[in-house]
Parts: sequence; C-alpha cells; structure tokens
Amino acid sequence: MTIKTIYLDNAATTAVAPEVIQEMLPYFETLWGNPSSLYAFGQQTRSALADARNRIATHLGTSDQNIYFTASGTEANNWAIKETMFAYQNKGRHFVTTAIEHHATSHSAAWLQKRGYEVTFLKVDKDGLVDPEEFRAALRPDTVLASIIYGNNEIGTVQPIKELAAIARENKVLLHTDAVQVVGHMPVDVEDLGVDFLSASGHKFNAPKGVGFLYIRKGIKTKGLLDGGAQERKRRAGTENVPYIMGMAKALDLSVANMHERTAHEMKLRDRLINRLLSEVEHCYLNGHRTQRLASNVNISFEFVEGESLLLMLEQRGILASSGSACASGSLDPSHVLLAIGLPHEIAHGSLRLTLSHETSIEDIDYTVRAIKEVVAQLRRMSPLYEDFMAGRKALSAVK
Ligand SMILES: *Cc1c(COP(=O)(O)O)cnc(C)c1O
Repeated sequence: MTIKTIYLDNAATTAVAPEVIQEMLPYFETLWGNPSSLYAFGQQTRSALADARNRIATHLGTSDQNIYFTASGTEANNWAIKETMFAYQNKGRHFVTTAIEHHATSHSAAWLQKRGYEVTFLKVDKDGLVDPEEFRAALRPDTVLASIIYGNNEIGTVQPIKELAAIARENKVLLHTDAVQVVGHMPVDVEDLGVDFLSASGHKFNAPKGVGFLYIRKGIKTKGLLDGGAQERKRRAGTENVPYIMGMAKALDLSVANMHERTAHEMKLRDRLINRLLSEVEHCYLNGHRTQRLASNVNISFEFVEGESLLLMLEQRGILASSGSACASGSLDPSHVLLAIGLPHEIAHGSLRLTLSHETSIEDIDYTVRAIKEVVAQLRRMSPLYEDFMAGRKALSAVK
C-alpha cells in the first residue's frame, strides 16, 4: 500500500504551479537570447523581462523602476542590509532588527557587528509581536536602517509594518522588511506601507527556487552587492535569469488573481487544525499570534515530546512538516524564534510547524489531526518525563 503524501511544509518551499512551468518553457526553448544584446533576438527577451517587471511592480503598487531581480530572498536581504549600512555610514553605524528574523537577516546583522557596526535586537512579546514604542525608543540619530520581518516563517506572526514604517520615517531611519512569507499570500502595496526596501522570493509562492526581488524606494542610494555589468539599472550585475523571472511574474499574477479565495480557504483549514489540536490533545500550546498570523501557518508545541521523533513518525504516515527544535543548520539548539517568544528549551523542543497551501484539503487536515494524536500519545507513553508527570498528578489527586 502506498500512502498519500500530505505536504505541510509550504513555508520551506512550494510546488511550482503548472502554469508557471508553461510560462517558463519558451525562454529555455526558443527565446533564450541575452536581454542585453542589441539585435532583435535579444530585444525579444528584453521586452519580456520588462513586461514581467512591470506586472510585478503593478501587483506591489509601485513603478517598475523600483523592482530589482535577485537570485533569492537571501540575496535581497543581504543587499538591503549590508549595502545600505555601508552606503550611509556617514550618517552612522547603528542597525536595528528583531530577535525573530530569518537567518538571512540575523546573520547579516552578525556580519555587520564583526565589522564594527552596532546592532540592536528588539525583543518580541509572547505572541511574537514587536512593540512599536520599543522600536521608537531604539532609534537614534546614528541609526541608518531597521529591518523587521513582515510575516514570520516559523510562528506566522504578522508585524504591523505600516505603523513601524511610519515611526521609522518620523525618525529619519530607513526601513527594510523581509516580506518573503507575505508576497503572494497577502495584498502588499509598498507605497501605502511606506517601507524603503522589501524582499520577496519566488519559491515561496509557486515559482522556482533561485529567483527573488528587492523593492527599493525611489531616491535611495544603495549600490549593488555585485560588481559587473550594467543590468538592473546598474545595481545588480549579472545576466538576468529570464525564464525564472518570467515564472515568478506568472506565479504572482496567479496569486494575486486568486488571493482572496486562497487565503480564505487556508485560514479556514488553519483554524480547524489549530482548534482541533488544542482541544483534542492535552498539554499543547499554539505559538505565534492567534489572529495576526499568516493564513497558512500552524506552530504548536507538545509537552513531553521530541520534535524530531514527531516529524519522523509523521513522515511514516505520509505527512511532511517541520520542527522548531533543530533548524536548517542541523544544530540541536531550539530555534531562536521559539526562544525569543519565551518558550523554555524543553517545550521548544516539542514544536511542530505545519504550513498549508491553497491545495491542502479538509481531508488532509483531519488525517493530520488523527496522525498527530496517535503519534503524540505513542511518544508520551515512552517518555519518562510524562510518566513522572502523570504519577505526580495521580499522587496529587490522591492527597486531595
Ligand atoms: C525562505 C525565506 C527567506 C530566504 O529566501 P530564499 O529565496 O530561500 O533565499 C528569507 N526570509 C524568509 C522569511 C523566508 O521564509
């Protein structure tokens, strides 16, 4: 018997949509000219690229001149942070970020610290929210840039970016937001948000891995990370990845066209999964904000359970998810995000992240709840900690 695979790790990557593959094919098969070439064969690719940029810009409420293609969300974050701090060092060398960033940001912050820049890491509350007043208090005359993740990839909490951007602007500080989990999943209007930089990545919204973009507000001086040709208005050298950019534009067209129904569907299933787990499994807790949360994100800690064992046993039942205990680095330390919202190590170790897509079905959710109930019960039966806990509880009830 083969079991069906239920993919609940859409925050790690998403499936490439069939329409996206179709959109890309001509740029491998026939239209493979270099967009910088002057002859018509190159110019055809150049105009396709211009069209893709235009559509992406329109979806984000800005002009095509402010969209710069990159090879990933990671590159977009590195570019916005490192090059901006460098370009404005006459103003100061202070950078502000949060304790719950993706490593593309937190490791860029560490890179800056090693080179003599000063970094403030804002704390978050138990739901993973940044306090706007704490943010305001952290800004100084020598603060150049702040970088705040929009939708958190682990716990799903969505920050009030518009409010934070207004505070940054009042204090003459630039604001970058890592919107990799948000673009293609929530409406984004960069001009209305008031951010100066915004990062996105194609593979988080049904385009291929290895393509992304950075929005840079008009008038901001930041050189590119790479030296080379004059591509991307001389700011990001390197021949453009035309097929993938075409795919990313198509993926965003599809997301925007179906956003309302997709998110409504995901939220309904997300809430069903959260509510069923919290009410049907004892000793488990939701991580992240209950409502200011990505439509697709569920993150739950199960006491007396190891996240890794949980994952392996779910995989045997066809369910692919992620744990918050050992992150991509393969280290055994719990994720910095779970620690930042105040989880004790032993609870962080029992965390499970399930991230849905518009293709997830209610049957998938109910199958997953059943599987988690079985697996958690099985793991707890083998847990000495759980045994002690239950014995203690019995003893307690015997006394009463
Ligand atoms: C996936 C992700 C990134 C990195 O994007 P890549 O394109 O995989 O480099 C950055 N930030 C967040 C929040 C992400 O989820």
